[in-house]
Amino acid sequence: MNRRNEIEQNLNELNQRIEKACTDSGRSFDEVKTIAITKTWPTSDIEILYDLGLRNFGESKDQEAIKKVEELRGKDIHWHFVGQIQTNKINHIASYADYVHAIDRNKVVEAFENALEKNGRSINALIQVSLDGDESRGGALPEAISSIAKAIEDSIHLTLGGLMAVAPVNQSPEVAFKKLSEIAGDFHQDFPSAQMISAGMSDDLEIAIKYGATHLRIGSDLLGNRE
Ligand SMILES: *Cc1c(COP(=O)(O)O)cnc(C)c1O
Repeated sequence: MNRRNEIEQNLNELNQRIEKACTDSGRSFDEVKTIAITKTWPTSDIEILYDLGLRNFGESKDQEAIKKVEELRGKDIHWHFVGQIQTNKINHIASYADYVHAIDRNKVVEAFENALEKNGRSINALIQVSLDGDESRGGALPEAISSIAKAIEDSIHLTLGGLMAVAPVNQSPEVAFKKLSEIAGDFHQDFPSAQMISAGMSDDLEIAIKYGATHLRIGSDLLGNRE
């Protein structure tokens, strides 16, 4: 099978899974968007997904992202930076990302604001929540979210999009995403316009949908297993 047919079949199967999960959770298919996570895969794969109608693409390494952004300039793509944010890369990420998912401290908000001002750009900012209390793996503790959200709202070039989480390796995604939905419930009382919940990957998307995910980040189910 050629690569296009393979990817098309993966996308059809993925959409069926999402549709079934939405039905099972009493949600509508349009409430859940797919961000194709294309790290390690060539630009030609992004072009195939683009031809198949996808417009949201995510990368987790700055060097790799910028190469693809440059090769695909002119296309109507929303670029999501989903990796951990190293402060020395912020200037660069600010030059192309439309969404940044893993904001987890006030210092990063400030650095983005300065970098975006210089670049004359804006981004949508999501706050990554740590669901196991281990900040070393990225993500803010639940009690720190409000202060980061206020810093984002106070900045000119960042728009508060919502929350992002990765299910911890040592916890069932059911427990993790239930906790995320409770945190999101509190968060939405204070920040009602920041409705994005970026959660769910190839292995746990059904559970993420059950607990309110609005944006899935899907890599291997679309493109295959990474080396
Ligand atoms: C790689 C990656 C994904 C995609 O994971 P798959 O299991 O391949 O679907 C999602 N989110 C983040 C932050 C990633 O780094």
